[in-house]
Amino acid sequence: MSGPMLLPGVTGLNGSGQQTTLGVMGGGQLGRMFVQAAQAMGYFTVVLDPDVISPAGLVSHYHIKTDYLDEQGLVQLMQRCAAVTTEFENVPAPALRTLGAVRPTAPGADAVAVAQDRIQEKAHLARSGVPVAPYAVIETRAQLDGVPDNLLPGILKTARLGYDGKGQVRCSNRAELVAAWDALKGVPCVLEQMLPLAAECSVIVARGWDGACVNFAPQLNLHRAGILAVTEAYDGNMPQALSEHAIAASKKIAEELGYVGVLCVEFFVLAEGSPEAIALGGLVVNEMAPRPHNSGHYTLDACDVSQFELQVRTLAGLPLTQPRQHSPAVMLNLLGDLWVDGATPAWHKVLALPGVHLHLYGKLKASKGRKMGHLTVTAVTPEVARSTALQAATLLGIAAF
Ligand code: ATP
Ligand code: MG
Repeated sequence: MSGPMLLPGVTGLNGSGQQTTLGVMGGGQLGRMFVQAAQAMGYFTVVLDPDVISPAGLVSHYHIKTDYLDEQGLVQLMQRCAAVTTEFENVPAPALRTLGAVRPTAPGADAVAVAQDRIQEKAHLARSGVPVAPYAVIETRAQLDGVPDNLLPGILKTARLGYDGKGQVRCSNRAELVAAWDALKGVPCVLEQMLPLAAECSVIVARGWDGACVNFAPQLNLHRAGILAVTEAYDGNMPQALSEHAIAASKKIAEELGYVGVLCVEFFVLAEGSPEAIALGGLVVNEMAPRPHNSGHYTLDACDVSQFELQVRTLAGLPLTQPRQHSPAVMLNLLGDLWVDGATPAWHKVLALPGVHLHLYGKLKASKGRKMGHLTVTAVTPEVARSTALQAATLLGIAAF
């Protein structure tokens, strides 16, 4: 089913005393922040996630604890809610297709299916006319043997189910490539040329059922070991021309997909003057996420409308207004590494710094690399936001940036 939608609006009351309920597939931290935004606007929420103590399930009105493809679970979800969204891209597309046949579902199964598979994703990006890293599809031994020399050194990435750098192997030569594909058990992959990165950024757009599209300004992202570590969001974080280019490309990608919901597009900024930058034009799309994104968490504290409120608005067919960022912001991810030696992070000291907003996701167990929460620092100027964030990082034992 597709829009325009007829949901009753921000009070969540349909006039007969029954609360309108919004559903989300997936119970992670993104689902939790969606649920919190929906509840703030008066909606009831229902989460479907097999994990009995999922971050979103813990704060939602209803929690259906079944597998994503469980028929009974999907029926319960459909009965409970007026519309459904998703919070992680590996929700099985067939489940979204089932839901989409009877309830407005945003993003839709087709868009999610594209984002779930790097091979389809790259083909879509190429169709949208945006540059991507030179790559080859590897599904057979013959394709592996036939990769052109210019793709090495490169990164072999599984076509499906990768996240936070998992399912990726860097290869400097053909011998390493063969070993890497074997190590990945010969699943379908893409080999991407290793590009000289000057920086990474992302753009978050929200597109409604009527095609209206709004966006946040590009965020500058620092990854460590394949995981987002720091996001810097303020005027001047990247050259104006690149910023405009990234926004235009992101909107084009959303439009070409007929996308409804919040979409994040991740970009590589190539080292100026490098042969790759000359050949590809300075900015290439890395990948897209069909949902709010870790790099957009600062919008909760630094913008008049957050990415999660936009997810609620797109889903419920409410008006979209162009978000305005009122404070420069720096976001630090809080990974399980901060807890693993048993110590509690120095929250008292960190919260004594001005403009610090602590978000923890209610995860009961910390492990290395697990996203436990984030911290956003807002300030009047980018310089102050950065220096306060650096102080917080030092207090927490996070490396300087
Ligand atoms: P995510 O958690 O963002 O979904 P992922 O596991 O899908 O991560 P990618 O975004 O593909 O992984 O890659 C992770 C990081 O590895 C990138 O942010 C970038 O720092 C680096 N990287 C990936 N591809 C390339 C490339 N072609 N050239 C240089 N660096 C790259
Ligand atoms: Mg990525």
